[in-house]
Amino acid sequence: MSVCAICGGIPEFAVNWLLSTRRMRPRVQKCSVSVLLCDSCLQSSRLNLDSELPMCLLDSLHEAYTAINMRSSRTREGAE
Ligand SMILES: [Zn+2]
Repeated sequence: MSVCAICGGIPEFAVNWLLSTRRMRPRVQKCSVSVLLCDSCLQSSRLNLDSELPMCLLDSLHEAYTAINMRSSRTREGAE
């Protein structure tokens, strides 16, 4: 069974990196394998000072996370 890559809990998100070449034509794109994360590990990854990811990558990840969260909370409100 799939588990969160950090804490081993129930994963709620799959994180993929999409890497695109900027100079090579035609453009080559490659999507990484999914890294499964639970909600709290994904949230705390930005606050974790031991993080091995550069801040700019974490920021872009959290922008996507915030967008998904806003969308899902709007869906919940609509359902009620
Ligand atoms: Zn976790």
